[in-house]
Amino acid sequence: MRKLATEADELVIATDYDREGELIGLEARDIAAGENESLLRHLRRARFSALTPGEITRAFDSLEYLSEPLAWAGEARQDIDLVWGATLTRFVSLATSRLGNQFLSVGRVQSPTLALIVAREMERRAFVPEPYWVLTADLEADAQRFTATHKEERFLDQGAAEAAYEKLIGPARVTQLKRTSRKVPRPAPFNTTSFITSATGVGLSASAAMRVAEDLYMGGYISYPRTDNTVYPNSLDLREMLRILTESEFAADAKRLLASPKLSPSRGKKKTTDHPPIYPTGVPRKGALDDRARKVYELVVRRFFATLADDAVMESNRIDLDIDGEPFFVRGSRITHAGWLAYYPYSRQKDAELPHLAEGQEAQLVGKDLEGKETQPPSRYGQGTLIELMEAHNLGTKATRHNIIQNLYDRGYTHGNPVEPTETGVKMAEALLEYAPLIASPEMTAQLERDMDAIAEEEQTKAHVVDTSRELLRTAYKSLAENKAAVAAKIFEGITDDRILGDCPTCGTHKLRIIKSKATRKRFVGCEGYPEVCTQTYPLPQRGDILATGEVCPSCGTPRIKILGGKRPWILCLDPECPTKAEYREKQAARLAARASGAAAKKPAAKKTATAKRKTTKKTATKKKVAASKQTETVMTSVGTSRGEDQNE
Ligand SMILES: [Zn+2]
Ligand SMILES: [Zn+2]
Repeated sequence: MRKLATEADELVIATDYDREGELIGLEARDIAAGENESLLRHLRRARFSALTPGEITRAFDSLEYLSEPLAWAGEARQDIDLVWGATLTRFVSLATSRLGNQFLSVGRVQSPTLALIVAREMERRAFVPEPYWVLTADLEADAQRFTATHKEERFLDQGAAEAAYEKLIGPARVTQLKRTSRKVPRPAPFNTTSFITSATGVGLSASAAMRVAEDLYMGGYISYPRTDNTVYPNSLDLREMLRILTESEFAADAKRLLASPKLSPSRGKKKTTDHPPIYPTGVPRKGALDDRARKVYELVVRRFFATLADDAVMESNRIDLDIDGEPFFVRGSRITHAGWLAYYPYSRQKDAELPHLAEGQEAQLVGKDLEGKETQPPSRYGQGTLIELMEAHNLGTKATRHNIIQNLYDRGYTHGNPVEPTETGVKMAEALLEYAPLIASPEMTAQLERDMDAIAEEEQTKAHVVDTSRELLRTAYKSLAENKAAVAAKIFEGITDDRILGDCPTCGTHKLRIIKSKATRKRFVGCEGYPEVCTQTYPLPQRGDILATGEVCPSCGTPRIKILGGKRPWILCLDPECPTKAEYREKQAARLAARASGAAAKKPAAKKTATAKRKTTKKTATKKKVAASKQTETVMTSVGTSRGEDQNE
């Protein structure tokens, strides 16, 4: 940039159009102006939301000015997050002696998000299941079989349920038929939150969804994916977009929508003017996208279609029956007008057709069933739900939420999908809530959001906002420092619990836990009864996070553990001699033998082999993309490599 600046007579900032982009633009301006001050008099800003020739040309034909207040707002957040993140992360990591890549992070947005996950887990743990009974009857009329449920959908009293069950002899008589029709409104255009939620519905994690979306944007296939807007701007030529899509594999759908005389798109609740909602901007060549990118592109295209289609119409049916004085019902539904559902199959439910019956008609009782069930605790959050919840609490931004969730995984506070906290995560949240509740509550962050808007509107200075925040941090830090021993003890409880993998099958009285050898720095599993009671140990893979599953192997009786880090978690029992592993070991041995004989035949020189091997290792570490046989090594390299950006949030 410095080199180019000396030769330039004009400077156009064309970074992403949002607070962060404005800040990068401001920094770029200062670097360029440092070389060539005259550029300050010829400084412009190009703002665009899609990397398409049309958008870029339009942006450079109507250049604007850099907004310093917008950049300051971005800088305030950056400064505050750095101060909070660095200060608190350092405190907690030192207090618990978790250093190096094992450090424990605390962040202005990350910690309240963790607290939300932990609060739900606590609800689940406190939940006491209640038994209930469901009574159903299998019926037949005009050769149609169907199942009706007792109107008391959940009998809380077993005696009453059994009494009703005993009464049933049949036949059943139809007492009432009801049919209602309702509209199923088409969805609003995608903003970042609704996009991520839908993408997690088709099997991507929140951070993977955003990574793929950013790639698609850079390729010119979709518009800028960081947006809160859910209303298409008037300037957006929807017909033109459909015409472009007639050149794609979605041509038939695009033509069908183009044929309608008037296009009136759906509108969401949030309207902003910076970026449009996410929509397709181009058509990739066949084979240009990998499977995941194709899936995400299709989702964006289909959502775009859905926002231009009609509402769907669903018919709901209900049949009420009487069986020996007991009221029963059957419910069904079917789509009578597909509308947008024809373009967007993701949320379509299967029709549940009902038998054709008339009022007063009889049906034979061919079976009956009384099933005992239990009420279920509230479910854990999926990543999509969590992103929605963060938005509702004003935690993070469209640009950072998915990374913050990823950080919780990378730091070992959560695992699995839906999101489950580890014991370390639980105790960390508890420690913060107890000794510095400000850090774990969303209120402070919501206030900061308002302050940032005020900076962008020039109603508030950046310095004032950062100073106020620093004062709050001082209060929180003081309380943590005064209770340092208690904070550390609490977090250690979690770390210790996470190391316990289950009961020792050898002595039956002690727990098995993960131990790190002081001499070799290698980890293994040992019995807590060592050395007096029991000397049982098991080897462990040296990379990847290890979690207890609470289950034991049915074959060998050792606890089963879960190893995280790869694409999919890996579950196995601790005993390497377990019979379930015999087959795997045979295959492994055969493969090794084959490789050894192959290598011996092809590469007589030992030196050459060593070189080749070194090359492979290097590649694995840098590219993280290797053949299937190197899968485990991939797992190892990706564990502990936390994503650098937003680390401090
Ligand atoms: Zn033992
Ligand atoms: Zn086993």
